[in-house]
Amino acid sequence: MVGKPPTQANQLGNRGFGSGIPIITANFFPVGQDDPAPGYLPPRDPTDPTQRVEYARAGSPTVWALEEVLATLEGGELAVCAASGMSAISQCLLAHLSAGDRLIYSKWAYPNTVDFLANHLSRLGIQAIASDTNDLAALEADLSQHRPKALFFEPLSNPALAYCSAREIAALCKAFGVISIADNSLLSPAILRPLEYGVDIVIHSLTKIIGGFGEAMGGVVIGRSELINPVARMRWTLGGVLAPQVADKIHDGVRSLDLRVRNTSSSALQVATKLATDARIAELIYPGLASYQWRDPFAADCGHLGGSVITFFHKGGAEAVARMANRSSFIRFGPSFGMAMTSCNGGTASERYYDQPAGFVRLSIGLEDPEDIVTELDRIL
Ligand code: PLP
Repeated sequence: MVGKPPTQANQLGNRGFGSGIPIITANFFPVGQDDPAPGYLPPRDPTDPTQRVEYARAGSPTVWALEEVLATLEGGELAVCAASGMSAISQCLLAHLSAGDRLIYSKWAYPNTVDFLANHLSRLGIQAIASDTNDLAALEADLSQHRPKALFFEPLSNPALAYCSAREIAALCKAFGVISIADNSLLSPAILRPLEYGVDIVIHSLTKIIGGFGEAMGGVVIGRSELINPVARMRWTLGGVLAPQVADKIHDGVRSLDLRVRNTSSSALQVATKLATDARIAELIYPGLASYQWRDPFAADCGHLGGSVITFFHKGGAEAVARMANRSSFIRFGPSFGMAMTSCNGGTASERYYDQPAGFVRLSIGLEDPEDIVTELDRIL
């Protein structure tokens, strides 16, 4: 981690309104009215038609306040929010790629993202090529051979928890004149701020760690204005905007982000350390452990916090994972991660979705007492 997230990010966006941001639900702002919420709007470019404040498909004051906070947290100039993480990813790539362009993407990326890149962009004449972003020599060879316009990667990948150095990937992309795009959903700016290492664009599923409570869906794209303004234009064209009520919920998540990430990282380390020696478990992966395969680059870029997500294989296979789900009293089984409550993803459906061998479990540690989580896991494993 370069520096740490600015403390004042917690207070931005209030713009003189006190301890909260007003939820402005208007979707129509009369032409000629310069400022629908005086003193409240972040600076917009009046010459850019997508930034006029007449109609809320270009955004709205509550969402802009959240965007300002998120841009500050990641150290970017501008942020554009979207209705979900997938909406942010698709708007960003459609804004930057055209027929004939090539994109290299990490083979470790989230399966739904890979589906969009590999199966849908190709219908528009954009060639998407998978590469192993954890093998820098292979990645360099792919960049040299294919000369892509952009590279998409997850610094910490879902669900394999492979870490590829944001710092080294940014440097490689710079050398080849490629736009680097990092989906930082698994780490959040409380652990890694890829823009500070030279990555061009950062994306988040706000649904996850930043939203933090499992109550909102959203996404964001952050970076230099020249790279983010085209995304704002794409949002104006496609729709997929974040609702102001949802932006307000996500802003609540931002306020406790640093605290939650420190707490869940400390608990996850405690849980991972305990589970790592459990005879029922094989191949436990947690970035905070000394045994983590990518420990050195991870610690160099991210510091001492390992995040909230642990993966492992239950030696009893899918049946044992299904039994865990049935026995569990407070650890809930289902998709998603990064919530205040501890949750688990496993069983045959998730094995298929993530293309993982039988017994795969992704555990997301929440804010419960870590001793209780350890006791519960020992009981249900
Ligand atoms: N990126 C990553 C790494 C994810 O894990 C997910 C969802 O799980 C997404 C993007 C998509 O986000 P959303 O579900 O908000 O569309």
